[in-house]
Amino acid sequence: TQTVTIIGAGLAGSEAAWQLAKRGVPVRLHEMRPVKMTPAHNTGNCAELVCSNTFRADHLENAVGLLHEEMRRMDSLIMNCGDQARIPAGTALAVDREQFSSMVTAALKAEPLIEFIEGEVTEIPTEGLVLIASGPLTSDALYEQIQELTGEDRLCFFDAIAPVLDAETINMDICYWKNRYDKNVEEGEAGDYLNCPMDAGQYKAFIKELVDAEKVAFKEFEDIPFFEGCMPIEEMAERGEDTPRFGPMKPVGLDHPETGEKAYAVVQMRRDNRMGSLLNMVGFQTKMTYGEQKRVFSMIPGLENAEFFRLGSLHRNTFIKSPDLLDGTLRLKSDPRVLFAGQITGVEGYVESASMGLMAGRFLAAMAKGETPEAPPENTAHGALLAHISQSRTSDFQPMNINFGLLPPGKKREGKRRFSRAERRRSVSDRALEALDEWLNI
Ligand code: FAD
Repeated sequence: TQTVTIIGAGLAGSEAAWQLAKRGVPVRLHEMRPVKMTPAHNTGNCAELVCSNTFRADHLENAVGLLHEEMRRMDSLIMNCGDQARIPAGTALAVDREQFSSMVTAALKAEPLIEFIEGEVTEIPTEGLVLIASGPLTSDALYEQIQELTGEDRLCFFDAIAPVLDAETINMDICYWKNRYDKNVEEGEAGDYLNCPMDAGQYKAFIKELVDAEKVAFKEFEDIPFFEGCMPIEEMAERGEDTPRFGPMKPVGLDHPETGEKAYAVVQMRRDNRMGSLLNMVGFQTKMTYGEQKRVFSMIPGLENAEFFRLGSLHRNTFIKSPDLLDGTLRLKSDPRVLFAGQITGVEGYVESASMGLMAGRFLAAMAKGETPEAPPENTAHGALLAHISQSRTSDFQPMNINFGLLPPGKKREGKRRFSRAERRRSVSDRALEALDEWLNI
């Protein structure tokens, strides 16, 4: 059995090390803290939670709750310690952060197959199996090494996230599918963009609210330059009332396909997944607070009752363009002995990062024993996340939390009775757990 080198003992690296040791595979676990700290961590503990102390909803009508349950069924260290360090928080799983990361650290230190190596890794080993799990705050020297491995244009230094909506909640009496000047659209087809038209009054009121809305302040270490391609929409609005109308909200070539009506401005949305259940607001990356995004974006005609799978944000965040670089089992296509896991693969959140560590641990254990790694089915939360990071379109690939829009739709009715939203979600979770059990041979 080969030894596996893991870089980073965060959420992903800790879980991967655990999965490997449990399968009898020796691990060299490198962690630079406390010798060298990141701008957000405060301790030398494994799996330190840098901000909130919650793993979010812990029930099966929520996609992250499904991810929790799948992880529990795969003997997750992060979930086991999370459950033990649980503190009351309604239906959410919140933890005592100090107790949680101390427990993870103690469990890993008690494993004879895990060798801890303190200090920054500045070179990626050129031989043997390697897992890069250095997170959103990867050190500069390692960042450069990863850049060499992936190419400059495939490693990002920050995210610029536009909101993603539930396609089923858009008012289609107002919005219409159309490409600008009907470019690249076959006769009789609908187009790739869903347009929300605005008149002058609606546009002006909307711009005013964008400018006035409350924004999230940048943290000191998030000194992010605004490149033209990813400027927050409110920043654009501040440059002048008409600036968005000559940018992402340009209405030309988008007259209404039935009435021929010309809009004063449009908000465009594009499908964000193969199934078309997710819609991405084009050019709407934003630093507005989550509450303000919901309020201001509901002023957009057609989005009055829209529900969001993801809200917009801008963060310091190291991540690779996984769809170009990784295969479905987190292996670098150009050098399959190197795997990536955690936030650096383009998932978002503590639980998602740990879940990708769990997958990487399983895949590497198979590889260390000379076997071929195998991904779980795409109708499980783990399979859906793996598919998202390995198969999304790369041009606008941005980090994503787990959400039901990434999984195939659930049952809509039983007999004549239409399922409620909660029942539909529950049916997706039940199907996922059944598929996972089958895959695990339980
Ligand atoms: P990490 O947990 O960061 O682990 C990476 C590890 O690698 C670190 O321990 C680091 O010290 C180490 N490392 C880096 N470079 C090297 C090197 N060269 N050599 C050796 N070790 C190295 N998610 C949430 O769900 N809720 C939140 O509230 C939340 N808040 C966040 C706040 C901030 C400021 C940031 C940056 C992210 C936040 N996230 C949050 C996102 C994400 O879930 C966490 O960053 C999560 O810790 C990611 O897990 P990871 O294992 O990928 O990385």
